[in-house]
Amino acid sequence: MILHPSGNGVLMEIDGERLAIDASRRFRGALHVVTHAHWDHLGAARGGPVYTNPETAEILKQRGLEGIAKEQIGGKNYELRFLNAGHIVGSSQVLVLNGRDVLVTGDFKLEGDVVVRGADVESVDVLVMDSTFGVPYFRFPSRRTLYKQLKVFVEEHLSAGRSVVLFGYSVGKSQELTAFLNSLGIKPLVLPETQRVNALFGLESRVARSLSREPSVYILPPRFQRVLGAFSFQASHPFVGLFVSGWNRELPLSSHADWEQTVRFVEKVSPELVITYGENAARSAYFLKREGFDAVPLRRGMFI
Ligand SMILES: [Zn+2]
Repeated sequence: MILHPSGNGVLMEIDGERLAIDASRRFRGALHVVTHAHWDHLGAARGGPVYTNPETAEILKQRGLEGIAKEQIGGKNYELRFLNAGHIVGSSQVLVLNGRDVLVTGDFKLEGDVVVRGADVESVDVLVMDSTFGVPYFRFPSRRTLYKQLKVFVEEHLSAGRSVVLFGYSVGKSQELTAFLNSLGIKPLVLPETQRVNALFGLESRVARSLSREPSVYILPPRFQRVLGAFSFQASHPFVGLFVSGWNRELPLSSHADWEQTVRFVEKVSPELVITYGENAARSAYFLKREGFDAVPLRRGMFI
């Protein structure tokens, strides 16, 4: 088997067959697979249909793309299965069985949250693992701690007469935030694109056609951070915003595994070899090696 990086994904050559997972573009003759519906994983999906699990196929339809829903796929020389990745609604890992078993995580998280359970663990020979936050300087508090912090933030501002805007991507973070707010008895105001995805998962929100006169809770994509000041002016009451992401040190509610989860995941999978890919791939492999694992960053033309 030969591996190559492609955008935020992996191109695999398996005994003459090509399998493209979250590839940045279409590859001739390849079977194209997508792990989840974040735009930075949908390069190949923009050029034609992709295989994915049933939930992601539904989300792709909402995004104007075609997903072919499968639980498992048989190639000539391999078999492929989707496992839960714990990243966002519908996210999956790809298990490739070919004598030498390989697990490609896609974006993943070991800790569950209000909408997804933590990533499934399957013992394999080679683990190809996303390393976005898989380095020692990312250590996030537990979901329980972060949810408590978020509850205080939302309730204190609302009771002081302020509207709260939580900034998160319309697919993924928005469903977790909606489910969390629903648990507090709040139906957030959202954009139509978020409402459509929320509806697929039975989450309760309302479309924000204009700003509410009452202090309310909104979930909006991060690009709206620039116009937050104008909201306070238009609605005649103050607005406060919070960017909800692993990159926000104040409240790092991340959809990715941090360092501690990364190490625990590798221990559970117990592969012979870890291949890191995505952001921080080289650093992650370096620190995993220091923990005693055989780890290397993904390179072009890597034989395994
Ligand atoms: Zn993602």
